[in-house]
Amino acid sequence: MRYVSTRGNLSPIGFIDAVLMGMADDGGLLVPETVPIIPAKTLRAWRDLSYPDLAVAVLAPFIGDEITAVDLQGLIRESYGTFRDQAVTPLRRLDDRHFVLELFHGPTFAFKDVALQFLGNLYGYVSEKTGATIHILGATSGDTGASAIAGVQGKPGIRIGILYPHGKVSRVQELQMTTVQDENVLTLAVEGSFDDCQRIVKALFGEVTFKRRYHLRAINSINIARILAQVVYYFAAYLACLRAGVRGPVNFSVPTGNFGDIFAGYLAKRMGLPVDRLILATNENDILQRFQATGVYQPESVRTTYSPAMDIQVASNFERYLYYLCGENPEPVAALMAELQRTGQIVVGGEALSTVQSDFSAYRVGNDECLDAIAACASRHRYLVDPHTACAVRAAETVGPPDKPTVILATAHPAKFAEAMRLRNLSVDLPPEIRALFGKPESRRRVVEATREAVERELVRFLS
Ligand SMILES: *Cc1c(COP(=O)(O)O)cnc(C)c1O
Repeated sequence: MRYVSTRGNLSPIGFIDAVLMGMADDGGLLVPETVPIIPAKTLRAWRDLSYPDLAVAVLAPFIGDEITAVDLQGLIRESYGTFRDQAVTPLRRLDDRHFVLELFHGPTFAFKDVALQFLGNLYGYVSEKTGATIHILGATSGDTGASAIAGVQGKPGIRIGILYPHGKVSRVQELQMTTVQDENVLTLAVEGSFDDCQRIVKALFGEVTFKRRYHLRAINSINIARILAQVVYYFAAYLACLRAGVRGPVNFSVPTGNFGDIFAGYLAKRMGLPVDRLILATNENDILQRFQATGVYQPESVRTTYSPAMDIQVASNFERYLYYLCGENPEPVAALMAELQRTGQIVVGGEALSTVQSDFSAYRVGNDECLDAIAACASRHRYLVDPHTACAVRAAETVGPPDKPTVILATAHPAKFAEAMRLRNLSVDLPPEIRALFGKPESRRRVVEATREAVERELVRFLS
């Protein structure tokens, strides 16, 4: 499989180069040259595959011959061997037409592990095969950093530096990053906001000589390998529904921030998975819900909510959807992105807007409504959901087409957000792995000033 840019100014490249490139060099995002179609008969034949075997089957056509079947199996087995549940992403039934797909059984109790365990092993594999030095640099508002660290800690040939806003991530998220003992991990608690962290990372990536000299690579959710790893669990969920006796297409309700997770569902649908509606659930940062309703994509200022991983205004993967909306034609995509740059908005109307509205339903969940949804789910179904998942529960109940079953994606374990649960007098049992974090020394943490110079000094010391 070869990969092209959504903006069209890049010669097609192979899978491994696409993983290493991250964002396309022309400023666009990488997408597969063609989307592989899975015939219904093949899908039926996959019904009883284990998660790792299914992952190999779904990913193989996207990778082509750059990784042998045996190596891919090894990578996948290693990536999902760290999950605490045998099924990797188990499906639970809530009631007669709602299911929950639990994506939080990986090392850091958030769904990002599904993609980042795989990406971490992939980086390890590439470094071993090609001798490439891999130094990962990223900024996190919480979940991504912990998950990325868990994906590469202790791996030879790889070092990882993560910036996070000092005092502004949850205690569990912080401990997950700072108590790691491996020497190839550096976490910098920046005395500023998440935006400061991102600005500094961007500035460092922008210094081309620095970036080359220190072999900096990104881990943000625009990496195509992350999207592809997420496509797998849409197939796993559908097949689990089949085994549970469901017939015909299903809806998926997805708590959405950067549009990565729901875009993976869109890709699964294009591959032929019987998906009826993709339900886009947002918190008060509702840019995507407004786009679905009006065709206007216009970032506003970020609001703080109980679901911080969705406190985002510019959904970086959205451009990939635009590419398909424009008939896989890069020219209008480049024009729309230029329009966003120039005028601060993108406007889509007519037939394109009808397509958007038939691809997605959307619902915005307010802050109090999110807590209400947590409480209602607990009393009605005796099932605790975290604030991100709660948005998807509420969206499924409100705009999910009632004639089809809906799978709700559960993106974090409720124990990661115990503070929000307590606001509705719900207590969460902390899993032993999380409880154990509180006794460990924070040996990987350094506090730095929010300047590029201060961060650069720490990085040079760490990477030299
Ligand atoms: C990252 C994250 C999301 C949002 O996923 P996107 O791919 O950015 O849309 C939702 N829930 C949790 C818990 C997350 O960590």
